[in-house]
Amino acid sequence: MTAPGPTAEKVTAQQPPWPDPDRLDKIRHALGERPPLIPPEETGELARRLAAVQRGEAVVLQGGDCAELFADATPPVVRRKLGQLRELSAAIRTGLGLPVVTMGRIAGQYAKPRSAPYEWLADGTRLPVYRGDAVNGAAADPDARIPDPDRLLTAYDRAADVLSTMRNEQTAHDPAERIFASHELLLLPYESPLIRPADGGRYASSLHFGWIGERTRDPQGPHIRLAASIRNPVGVKAGPSATPADLVELARLLNPGRRPGRLTFIVRMGADRIDWLLPPLVEAVAETGIPVVWLSDPLHGNTIRSGSGHKTRSLRAILDEAAAFHRILRDRGQWPGGLHLEMTPEPVTECVARAADAGTAAFPRFRSPCDPRLNPEQAAETVHAFTSMLRA
Ligand code: PEP
Ligand code: MN
Repeated sequence: MTAPGPTAEKVTAQQPPWPDPDRLDKIRHALGERPPLIPPEETGELARRLAAVQRGEAVVLQGGDCAELFADATPPVVRRKLGQLRELSAAIRTGLGLPVVTMGRIAGQYAKPRSAPYEWLADGTRLPVYRGDAVNGAAADPDARIPDPDRLLTAYDRAADVLSTMRNEQTAHDPAERIFASHELLLLPYESPLIRPADGGRYASSLHFGWIGERTRDPQGPHIRLAASIRNPVGVKAGPSATPADLVELARLLNPGRRPGRLTFIVRMGADRIDWLLPPLVEAVAETGIPVVWLSDPLHGNTIRSGSGHKTRSLRAILDEAAAFHRILRDRGQWPGGLHLEMTPEPVTECVARAADAGTAAFPRFRSPCDPRLNPEQAAETVHAFTSMLRA
C-alpha cells in the first residue's frame, strides 16, 4: 500500500496505515472474544460522580503519561503512578473540602494521534512517526515503525495487567477515593470490538472514561459516532479551531438525553489565546442548557520546540492557561471542573520553567516517547495553584 500523505491522514481519521488487513481482521475478531476489561456498573458510578462535578460539588483530577509504554505495565511502576494521582487528589480534597474524581491516563493510553505522518532525522532522512505501543515501536528504526496489528492484542493484555494492579492497590483505600481508568478513544479496531452490551445499551469495556482528541472530533467522523454509541462518560478536547457551533453540535450529538456527567469538554487553547477563544464557546454551550463538565488541559496548547529540538512546555504558560480557564468559567457562572494533565511520578526534565529557558535547556532526563510531562514538583505546583483559585 502507498504511504499516506497529510491528506490521507485526515480522511482516515488518524488510523494507522496497517500493512496487513487480513491480520487486522483476525485481531479484531480475537478482541471481540476477550472478556470486558471494565464492568459496566463502574462506568455508571463514574458518571454519577461526574454529575456532582457538573453541579459544582466536586473536582476532577485526570492525569498521567502522554503515551503509556507496554514495558511500564508492571506493579511497581503502576503503583508509583497511582501514588502520584492519590497524593495530588488528596491535596485538592483537603484544600477545598470537596470530593475529587480521580482518573488516570492509564490502562490503555497506548495510541497517539500525530500531526504529521513522518518525522525528519538529523541526517535528512524521514521516518514514519511513532503512534504509540499499540501500533508501532518508538525506536528510530524504519522496521520498528511499521504498524503491527498484533500490538492491539498486547495492548489489551497490558491494560489488563495495569487494571489488576489498580484493583489490588484499591483494596488499601477508601472506595470514595478510587482511581478510574481513561484513555483517548483513538484506535477504532481496538475500541469497536470491546464495545459490549450494558442494560439496554452499549458501553466501551476498555475504559471507564474515554475522550476524543482535538484531531478526531469531526462531528460527522467515526470517533464521534463511536462516542455517541456508548453509555460511558465521554470527553472531547476543544482546541483553537473549535467554534461555538462545533461544541453546540457535539453537545447535542453526545448528550441528547441531557444527562449530567455524561459529557466533558477538555479545553486546550494555549495561554496566549484562551482569553478570546474560550468565552464564546462557554456561552454557546451554556445557552443550550445541555449539562457539561468543563476541564482545563493547560498543556497541549502550550507545546514549543526547544533549541535542542525537544518538544517542551513552560510551566509559566501552563499556570497562566489554567488561571485564565478558571476566570473565564467563573465569570460566566460555570464551575471550572478540574484539570487534565500530562504528568509522571518520575523525576524527568521535560517541561521548562519559562519559555525563555527552552532555547538553552539540556533536558538530561527527557524520557517521554511523545509529549513532555510535568515532573512531580511541577504537577504539584499546578494542582496547588488551581486549588487556590477554586478556594478564592
Ligand atoms: C493528548 O491528550 O495526548 C493529545 C494528543 O491531545 P489533543 O488531542 O488535545 O492534541
Ligand atoms: Mn499528549
